Amino acid sequence: GRGAARDMTYEVVVGVEVHAQLRTKSKMFCGCPTLFGAPPNSHTCPVCLGLPGSLPVINRMAVEMAVRAGLALNCTIGGDNRFARKNYFYPDLPKGYQISQYESPICEHGWIDIASGTGSKRVRIRRAHLEEDAGKNVHQAGANGSVVDLNRAGTPLLEIVTEPDMRSSDEVVAYLKGLRDILMYLDVCDGNMDEGSFRCEPNLSLRPTGQQAFGTKVELKNINSFKYVKDAMDYEIKRQAKVLSEGGKIKQETRLWNIERGETAVMRSKEEAHDYRYFPDPDLVPLKLDKEWIEGFRAGLPELPAARASRFISEYGLPEYDVGVLTSSKALADYYERCVKLFNQPKTVSNWVMGELVRELNGSGADASASPVSPERLVGLLQLVEKGTISLKVAREIFPEVYSSGKPPEQIVREKGLTQVSDEGALEQIIGEVLGKNPAQVAQFKEGKQQVLGFLVGQ
Ligand code: ADP
Ligand code: MG
Ligand code: ZN
Repeated sequence: GRGAARDMTYEVVVGVEVHAQLRTKSKMFCGCPTLFGAPPNSHTCPVCLGLPGSLPVINRMAVEMAVRAGLALNCTIGGDNRFARKNYFYPDLPKGYQISQYESPICEHGWIDIASGTGSKRVRIRRAHLEEDAGKNVHQAGANGSVVDLNRAGTPLLEIVTEPDMRSSDEVVAYLKGLRDILMYLDVCDGNMDEGSFRCEPNLSLRPTGQQAFGTKVELKNINSFKYVKDAMDYEIKRQAKVLSEGGKIKQETRLWNIERGETAVMRSKEEAHDYRYFPDPDLVPLKLDKEWIEGFRAGLPELPAARASRFISEYGLPEYDVGVLTSSKALADYYERCVKLFNQPKTVSNWVMGELVRELNGSGADASASPVSPERLVGLLQLVEKGTISLKVAREIFPEVYSSGKPPEQIVREKGLTQVSDEGALEQIIGEVLGKNPAQVAQFKEGKQQVLGFLVGQ
């Protein structure tokens, strides 16, 4: 019958599109700065305002960053790639088209490996292409209408698109974390999800378990944290499963994650590529990249997170958990290695960096590279413990102050009189005095009242 309920299990299928803002100083096709948070429309010029007669010039640094990202993502780098106009009308797009790449993207056919369940899994990258960002429509509360800020218009983006290879929200989060780490290691993207420098759009469909053909997908937007990636996808999986199991059909559409309501809602039905009337941009010649130029970048790639993680295991003998935390950001991994160079006890250093340091960094929202406690200073504290000047407990207790005051640990220890007394003769004398002054408690202890021991030690 119509809409007959079907009892089925479904497999989740996901492909992800990420827009990563490249860390260039200037925009993709003009010299305007890319700084975030400037007064509205202060970083604009005839090119990014789309004024008639202005002509775009390709930002060489953006191309370099795209090439380096593509190499790190195991892509083939197009020796010949061109820019295309993607036409649509929207107030934040003054030219009436976005300069993007369509038929020949700069990077294609790559992959990265992610941790999945117990093993590792390869996610294929279909393409990564350069494009410019649009401006921003600002809807002010109580205002009659919206205003447009074009500071962001023309900011270089690398759009990275995977094949539909992921099968759960956890795999998607693992992919996104892995990708973000790589881009941050390369210093081509600051990875800031709040400010929109790393925007992710999962495309999600379900298919009955065992079926080959993919189902109709929905694209999810407005997701600016890893937690929302998971929440939005888990909501969407339930929603689609309900529609399908009731005999309904999924509509191909773009849906927005609504944080307050904890649900996705339709934004628009999905356009097809032909709706955009893509065509090669006649203002920009095809970009022919020299093979040797590309290979130069390959040779200069830094050690990437996966390689660094395996080296941390072999070189420092750290547990996998520690390695995961320490290599999660390049800054933290760099910090850790500087400490270990000065203080060759890898596990002790790891405990301090993952524990005390990360706690304070999280509390102040700082990155390890901006830590007010330098590696030298942290090691200084560890050496005080090593020498027996202070106990481990005291070292842990004063760490927040070392962090917030900017004072050397030695000074804090001196000011607070926290030096640990290790001279046995001196200790015996103090103990004798305490026992002499508290005969009642000593008697109680001798009668078997164990609790008074704490009191005596405290004295
Ligand atoms: P569109 O033209 O709608 O943007 P694409 O084919 O370019 O669609 O794919 C966009 C993203 O959606 C890619 O990451 C791709 O892997 C993913 N995708 C494509 N088809 C599906 C599907 N049926 N289910 C889940 N993801 C899909
Ligand atoms: Mg798309
Ligand atoms: Zn400009």
